[in-house]
Amino acid sequence: MPTVPIYGLQICRWGMEDTVKYLTHKLQSEERKPIQVITANPIMVMKALEEPDYMQVMKNAELLVPDGTGVVWAAAKTGMPVQERVAGFDLLHELMRVGEDYHWKVYLLGSTPEVIQAAAERLHLQYPGVEIAGYRDGYFKAEQDAEVIAEIRKAAPDILFVARGADTQEPWIARYKEQLGVPLMMGVGGSFDVISG
Ligand code: UDP
Repeated sequence: MPTVPIYGLQICRWGMEDTVKYLTHKLQSEERKPIQVITANPIMVMKALEEPDYMQVMKNAELLVPDGTGVVWAAAKTGMPVQERVAGFDLLHELMRVGEDYHWKVYLLGSTPEVIQAAAERLHLQYPGVEIAGYRDGYFKAEQDAEVIAEIRKAAPDILFVARGADTQEPWIARYKEQLGVPLMMGVGGSFDVISG
């Protein structure tokens, strides 16, 4: 995969089409090793520079896609431009669209109970070929992590979308990547709020 280093982070240079093709191939492969996708925007890059733990989370992600015009700009400055911005919200929709062909199952984690229920209903109507294997709000304590993980494992989704704010969602996925047993996981920030509304 072609990447460009930005502050030590290897940002993928592919555009949306190649990114989705790659992830589809990974999901359809036998192996299905967990992939954490991080939609790297400038706020997250700055946070990584300030917090070593967050930097480690980003470095350990299997795929960093260029979200935010600042990242696209920084890549161009290095002489290794990325093809285009790959925004998390758009990537979620593209994966749902392609997911209809393969009958993927998705689990939606995060936002308030009202928002996540409305988002699940909307996504089901828009992409009936994708099974919403489960959903749950993102306001739970660390003590409940085991219970949330058990619920997700039971639902056995192909994709887990997590919206709990960038400070929480990326480290949470990174921490439980192996335990969750989901082949593709991605933080989606405020996407459910937009979809539900
Ligand atoms: N969120 C959540 N649990 C939390 C904090 C936030 O589920 O403990 C949800 C929130 O409801 C929203 C999404 O995460 O749907 C993004 O939140 P916010 O806009 O605060 O995140 P940021 O843009 O700061 O990353």
